[in-house]
Amino acid sequence: MNSENLNKEFRRIFPEYALDSTMLEVRAPGRVNLIGEHTDYNDGFVFPMAIDRVTAMVLHRRSDHLIRLYSTAQQQMAEFSILGPVQKNPPAWSLYAKGVCEALRQKGHTGLGADILTDTDIPLGGGLSSSAAFEVAMALALLSAWGQTMPPVDMALACQWAEHHYAGTPCGIMDQFISAMAKAGHAMLLDCRDQSYRQIPLDDPKVCVVIVNSHVKHELVAGEYKNRRSQCQAAVAAMAATYPVVRALRDVTMPMLQEVQASMDPVVFQRARHVVGENQRAIDFAAALQKRDYAACGRLMYASHTSLRDDYAVSCPELDTLVDLSRSVSGVFGARMTGGGFGGCIVVLAKKEAVSPLQQVLEQEYPLRCGKKPGIFATAAGPGAHVVGS
Ligand code: ADP
Ligand code: MG
Repeated sequence: MNSENLNKEFRRIFPEYALDSTMLEVRAPGRVNLIGEHTDYNDGFVFPMAIDRVTAMVLHRRSDHLIRLYSTAQQQMAEFSILGPVQKNPPAWSLYAKGVCEALRQKGHTGLGADILTDTDIPLGGGLSSSAAFEVAMALALLSAWGQTMPPVDMALACQWAEHHYAGTPCGIMDQFISAMAKAGHAMLLDCRDQSYRQIPLDDPKVCVVIVNSHVKHELVAGEYKNRRSQCQAAVAAMAATYPVVRALRDVTMPMLQEVQASMDPVVFQRARHVVGENQRAIDFAAALQKRDYAACGRLMYASHTSLRDDYAVSCPELDTLVDLSRSVSGVFGARMTGGGFGGCIVVLAKKEAVSPLQQVLEQEYPLRCGKKPGIFATAAGPGAHVVGS
């Protein structure tokens, strides 16, 4: 929704506001991870960019401590107090927002309540991090209502805390970092160990990032995710027996891993080989992108997909099909599954002129092979969270 429609919708939901009352508006983007998958919980590197789809909030301050939050995506109103504990049986989605209030309060930021309308064009649960966009928008909305600011890193960490403690999702730092701190026309190489990051230009008008949703729901994810994490821990334990400095797979190189291979369970070795290789690929991708060497970027994306499919075993036939079909289109540099796996999306790097042939091939062949329609959209690297009109 554009600002005008958001304002109209706000007044439909909250009709008590006068037409000339001044509203605040904030926006926070979703994201796609270009490369560096299953590296975050191994203290490694990820390489996300903000997409040009956002969660918007328009709001007006209140003179008490109540938050009234209407979500167009849920078509539901939630009400809670900024102070005090969670009320009985709140809508589950509103806990993200309450969690953000609590996280901000713990960092010394609080104030009066607000009436808020939120709208998004990020699909919910589609792997593009609508949850982080929602949290970051909420944090920025409240801070701007209170006339306060906070370093964006702290805001991102507060939102991650909310997702851990109020939504029960033990996510890494990537989603909230990129939503809070993205720079338009750039992707972000983020070091999950020390939270340092580098913004790298991705603004070539001849090049495009395309996201393709397989429309396979990732239901296996929770159990498999736990399983992969414990396999990574087993690999660290095996490595540390020879190399005591190893604290995480981030500290392991390919020659070190090969040296210890014989003492490792073969499946654990494969999992570790993915993580060690993927970390290097994320670093190499950043260097290639800096040089605008898109062919090299594409090769790294294909290698990442193969490694996730064969060594980490988190792909599925539909994602493999989408990657194979993309590879057949001239002008496509590379493609890979993105996100945790077992469904969700692939991400494609392509020449702009290849986008429409890519769309044609996928729309024709994917339903024939997998019995589903793909969801396809091209995106530029968008800006991070911001207050509109400031
Ligand atoms: P993803 O982050 O990949 O979209 P998640 O399962 O992590 O998927 O987060 C989706 C959840 O976040 C939704 O089920 C809902 O609870 C919450 N959410 C995200 N955006 C909104 C929104 N605009 N309005 C209400 N709830 C939202
Ligand atoms: Mg999420």
